[in-house]
Amino acid sequence: MDLKPSEVATVLKAEIEGFQGKMQKSNVGTVLMVGDGVARVHGLDECMMNEMLDFGNGIFGVALNLEEDNVGAVLLGADSAVKEGDTVRTTGRIISVPTGLQLCGRVVDSLGRAVDGKGDIQVADSDMRPIEGRSPSVPERQPVTEPLQTGIKAIDAMIPIGRGQRELIIGDRQTGKTALILDTFINQKSTGGGDPNNKDQVICIYVAVGQKQSTVKGVVQKLEENGALPYTIVVSAPASSEASMQFLSCYAGAAMGERLRDEGRHVVIAYDDLYKQALAYRQVMLLLRRPPGREAFPGDVFNLHSRLLERAAKLSDAKGGGSMTALPVVETQEGDVSAYIPTNVISITDGQIFVESSLFNAGQRPAVNAGISVSRVGGSAQIPAMKKNAGGLRIQLAQFRELAAFAQFGSDLDKATQAAITRGQRMTEVLKQAEYEPLPVEEQIVIIYAGTSGALDDVPVERVIEFEKKYLAFVRANHADVLATIRDGKKWTDEVKAKCDEMVKAFKGEFLA
Ligand code: ATP
Ligand code: MG
Repeated sequence: MDLKPSEVATVLKAEIEGFQGKMQKSNVGTVLMVGDGVARVHGLDECMMNEMLDFGNGIFGVALNLEEDNVGAVLLGADSAVKEGDTVRTTGRIISVPTGLQLCGRVVDSLGRAVDGKGDIQVADSDMRPIEGRSPSVPERQPVTEPLQTGIKAIDAMIPIGRGQRELIIGDRQTGKTALILDTFINQKSTGGGDPNNKDQVICIYVAVGQKQSTVKGVVQKLEENGALPYTIVVSAPASSEASMQFLSCYAGAAMGERLRDEGRHVVIAYDDLYKQALAYRQVMLLLRRPPGREAFPGDVFNLHSRLLERAAKLSDAKGGGSMTALPVVETQEGDVSAYIPTNVISITDGQIFVESSLFNAGQRPAVNAGISVSRVGGSAQIPAMKKNAGGLRIQLAQFRELAAFAQFGSDLDKATQAAITRGQRMTEVLKQAEYEPLPVEEQIVIIYAGTSGALDDVPVERVIEFEKKYLAFVRANHADVLATIRDGKKWTDEVKAKCDEMVKAFKGEFLA
């Protein structure tokens, strides 16, 4: 064939021109407007949702609004360095974070960068994961059956949480919500000795959204003091960080958890809290001019939380059997659980733990309202011995609540009422628990049984807490075999019951003498 150089040159020239044109059209745009942490960019025709945009000078943004003639993006850094007319490039990457066990023991920001001053975290490209992931489908899941022991008597006995479940912690400010999470995390040490490389070790992830830096620091310190930091990842998006970083932090934490869940590990992730996350999202979306809806939140604020919580799951055996348990927190105003965000999140989760200021201030701590808190996974996530004993506890407490109003009349009451009140007062004391002292489930069972069986009825109310402490020490020292039987056998046999009766009788004689 006869090639004419002039023709080849024309074709090549046309190709090159077309190529350049395409490059420019899809990948480079200009900033139309910037301010308050958001930017509008013209010319990014092939930009993807949630794609990282490079604003130059090391500043990145995320595309959140894809409109006909422009793209709305949030900046992940100070907006003062970005000006109108600046060039913006798409990166072809959906916003991603590093994942893997090397993050354990570290505090990172919403992009997975270390913020604890302990040096950079080494990550391979294969460790990067997009922060928004597809949640497992129905066939990829299996029912929740394994308990996630929190070590908190009131929860493990009455509102049991299973691995893969979503349990909301809801209450006003300063009611001990974060304390419940910390105790749960500390208690996970018993699953694998606190070594993140141990396959049985439950990995904990704490996502702090919109909190004071000092509060987050306090949490990290407490985790460290109690030996829980080595198997915990803290994602911190404090109130001082950009609103974009705050609402993205939950997805970043979820991506880190999912990676481990997909490798067959067990993960518990706490989002503290989703109300503040929604506020950050509202701020960004109003600036991007999304239409405001109820309480000025954008219309998709339900989706903001549902797509996050759907990622919690217990995977099928074919998928490795890993799990991710979600403990979202929602702060209420004046106990109003019927506000927009609380009702949304209540409807998405598998149960709620209500904590109340009135109980907290009356000294009932943890301030869990057992009457209205539920876990819809319920007893299937309890070991049989606990299931057996907790039933009695629930009934006795419910009776007590009904009669408590009469308690002030004291001696005028009939015998049965008096007995129910006596029992209820003791059980209420038994459910009190100090912070950072999670109890192994077998010890919880021993003390709850002592209460429900009536052995504490003749112990003065104000001495019940002292009794519990000393009794458990006594059992640990002299009857470790009984504890081991309950723990390993997990069944509640007549034999164990008789043994417990005997133990409490022997100890009580000593205690009251
Ligand atoms: P915020 O709304 O500020 O996040 P919160 O609901 O997370 O508050 P915490 O910070 O967990 O509450 O607890 C509030 C205070 O109560 C803390 O000083 C904590 O030490 C104390 N506290 C929490 N739980 C208990 C408990 N079981 N026993 C005694 N004190 C407790
Ligand atoms: Mg808190």
